[in-house]
Amino acid sequence: MVDMPVDTHCPYCALQCGTTLTPGGPDRVTVAPRQFPTNRGGLCRKGWTAPSVLSTPDRLTTPLLRRDGALRPVSWDRALDVVADGIGDAQAQAGRDAVGVFGGGGLTNEKAYQLGKFARVALGTSQIDYNGRFCMSSAAAAGSRAFGLDRGMPFPLSDLAGAEVVLLTGANTAETMPPMLKHLDTAQLVVIDPRRSLTAGWALDRGGVHLAPEPGTDLAVALGLLHVVIAEGWCDTAYVEARTSGFDEVRRAVASWWPERVERISGVGADALRRAAALLGAAHRGGGGVYVLSGRGVEQHATGTATVSALIDLALALGLPGTPGSGYGCITGQGNGQGGREHGQKSDQLPGYRKIDDPAAREHVAGVWGVDPADLPGPGRSAYELLDALATPSGPRALLVFGSNPAVSAPHAGHVTERLAALDLLVVADFVPSETAELADVVLPVTQWAEEEGTMTNLEGRVLRRRRAVDPPEGLRTDLEVLAGLAVRLGQPAERFPPDPQAVYDELCAASAGGLADYSGISRERLDAGEALFWPCPGPGHPGTPRLFTERFAHADGRARFGSADHDDVGPAERSDAEYPLRATTGRVLSHYQSGAQTRRSSELLAAAPEAFVEVHPETAAAVGLADETRARVVARRGATLATVRTDDSMRTDTVFIPFHFPGDERANLLTNPALDPVSRIPEFKACAVRLEPVSGPVNGHASDGSHCHSRALEVQP
Ligand code: SF4
Repeated sequence: MVDMPVDTHCPYCALQCGTTLTPGGPDRVTVAPRQFPTNRGGLCRKGWTAPSVLSTPDRLTTPLLRRDGALRPVSWDRALDVVADGIGDAQAQAGRDAVGVFGGGGLTNEKAYQLGKFARVALGTSQIDYNGRFCMSSAAAAGSRAFGLDRGMPFPLSDLAGAEVVLLTGANTAETMPPMLKHLDTAQLVVIDPRRSLTAGWALDRGGVHLAPEPGTDLAVALGLLHVVIAEGWCDTAYVEARTSGFDEVRRAVASWWPERVERISGVGADALRRAAALLGAAHRGGGGVYVLSGRGVEQHATGTATVSALIDLALALGLPGTPGSGYGCITGQGNGQGGREHGQKSDQLPGYRKIDDPAAREHVAGVWGVDPADLPGPGRSAYELLDALATPSGPRALLVFGSNPAVSAPHAGHVTERLAALDLLVVADFVPSETAELADVVLPVTQWAEEEGTMTNLEGRVLRRRRAVDPPEGLRTDLEVLAGLAVRLGQPAERFPPDPQAVYDELCAASAGGLADYSGISRERLDAGEALFWPCPGPGHPGTPRLFTERFAHADGRARFGSADHDDVGPAERSDAEYPLRATTGRVLSHYQSGAQTRRSSELLAAAPEAFVEVHPETAAAVGLADETRARVVARRGATLATVRTDDSMRTDTVFIPFHFPGDERANLLTNPALDPVSRIPEFKACAVRLEPVSGPVNGHASDGSHCHSRALEVQP
């Protein structure tokens, strides 16, 4: 039993606020914020309440096996034998790819690495992807194309404190990661968001600008801003000539995106667009710091990569990336969304941010793993395509899920739930009975954040230590121990899949050496000594790289690439019509994280946000007989969801907003469109066509007149 205060980090978002856990208290530990560069002594309510999930009454404590339709306790040996036998049967009948793996962006670096290796070596399957594909993959694709390297923020968050203007696109930071506002409170903010989010309201209160495009038209707005910057001569021509290529093509491509055209498509006024561009241009020309930041709101679209490319082009035209005090960055969402994609969970990547179809990368990684490069599978399906293919003639018959809850978080969730239920074998490793675990044939109870050791990589590319503060409940295993037990049953030598996180991390560092995301100099000893280490860090004496691109970009010629093309069609993949006249967009609220599997188990958080709601303009609601606090059915072509109406006269009359944290028939993702971006394969979570209908009588225990408390106060707590 650990009995001293332990410095670690919040289990939730990519800000990875620094915390100190002290054993004892009603939730097994008490949490306190600490002075750490990302949170500067602040925590949001999710961080304050995180320990409650350690002692949640429905914590999984024993392996479960489905028999006679119900999940029943079994021994670890029995559970792992069943899983190994099921894998063997599926692969004997339909080949290696008959088994798939679905990972998570909250897994530690060690787990993400080991899961990727387990899939490629122990299972020999190409069918692995993770829920990080649903998060920032458009920004990753656009960043890789432009800069030759994707690291969410290529600078420390603290650099933002010196900014004069920040363009914040598709990010409701005031609710998703409130302590980040401390880094933004001296800058003038230009916020692009279809709704007046808490962040947009905060910006307006401080003299900032809010542009509210129709959902799915961010690309038009980004191209319009770029058009104005070029047309007004605000480009940094010396920077463009010295550090970039492809500008002339982009100048031609955006020539037709004049503000009045953007206004017709997006609803953002031409004058407001010009004012926003002028703020950016004037600040940079005056020598002030300017940042362009993107979040899920602009990335989760079938045009997500194109939109982020246009925003990066805007930043390049202004001369921001790699310039001290300015830049472009993506605000990564999930706790280890950054590390999770660097170490091999993504279907097309190997550790070190290597490409799986690169012969040199395969040879290097196979050498570390002690296998023949020819035995490594090639690229597999992306996350939604993998889920969509489950239990089809060409898709996996068995699936192993680690650290994810796709029954709630995947798009077209009704269809995904059907595919999961149709599998011959669904195995879920989790610490709570998530909605996906409830569908499983085998449930494997694992440890969680405060009970385990490892590393995480935050939104800045800073590698952090996660430390064990309390012993796990008796009978649990770590994910690494689960993978070790399965690997041996699948015929692997025990030493190839060690359960010790230190051993796995050391191997991860070796596998990453020479890759884009090179961790080989970031030893656990250096992290434990308190060094601030950002990848790439190639070797023990290297100081790490807090700021990328200051001298050159990662392409062979050292230049960044402009990437925007002209676009005939910039709207959402699914259009509104008479039957579905509104646009629904989805997002997060202050009190919940991702699918809510963890935060819905905190009584405080659940009391603050107990149910799904649909935010709508009062006129739009009244037009279909709805009023504030009544229950509504939101109907899309793929399904319907239930929510309590919240009227808000700042909403666009053509748009509704629904949070996606709630289960069952309150799942926002029953509506969402799985149309995929052609490059990143991210689904279009942020725009689908819907209509609203009243619900008469009680629904799910809710009175139709509603009487539910809710809280949307701005929260930046010390
Ligand atoms: Fe956790 Fe909140 Fe900090 Fe994110 S912002 S790491 S959820 S305390």
